[in-house]
Amino acid sequence: MMTTAAHLTTDELDAFLEDHPTPRATSHLATCAECQMMVTLDREVVYHLGALPEHVPSYRFADGVMARVTVGHPVSAPVVVPATPRALAARRRVLVAGGLTGAAVAGAFGWAILNPAAALGFASPALQQGGHALWAGMQVGLSSAVDQPVLAWVTDMVAAPMRAIPILVGAAGAYALALTGMRHLLTEPAHHARG
Ligand SMILES: [Zn+2]
Repeated sequence: MMTTAAHLTTDELDAFLEDHPTPRATSHLATCAECQMMVTLDREVVYHLGALPEHVPSYRFADGVMARVTVGHPVSAPVVVPATPRALAARRRVLVAGGLTGAAVAGAFGWAILNPAAALGFASPALQQGGHALWAGMQVGLSSAVDQPVLAWVTDMVAAPMRAIPILVGAAGAYALALTGMRHLLTEPAHHARG
């Protein structure tokens, strides 16, 4: 019978020792030496516990313990101003968007360096017009950007997510400009060497 397969649980053992055996416990014990041993051991434990002398603490016991206990002043927790869920969500969006954009730009640069001809082929059709102007603009932009403390930029971006949007757009633009710049460097080295 499958009902005798599993050994007795502690509840079933307790019930058996208290003379309220379940039918399953009785039929299992008839065939299981291990559970018979458990019942024997449990009976011994219960017997010896019952044989222990009773000890009733004096009525002054609790007072005696409490007299030796020092109750300290409750520790005041530092005041933490919680960021609103809205602000946290906005911050998380900016960090994720920034990370993804950075990874995309880095990946695109890596690919462009490995495949310069293909990269220039991509950039040329869209940026052939006004390429010189874009390249000059990028140089001006870079020289002024270097003066900015980059860390303040980042903290501003995280504090006010709306400010991140032009920066993210700018990052994509910078990538396009950089491709144009590469085209310049590869195709007109003499022009820049003179300038
Ligand atoms: Zn058993």
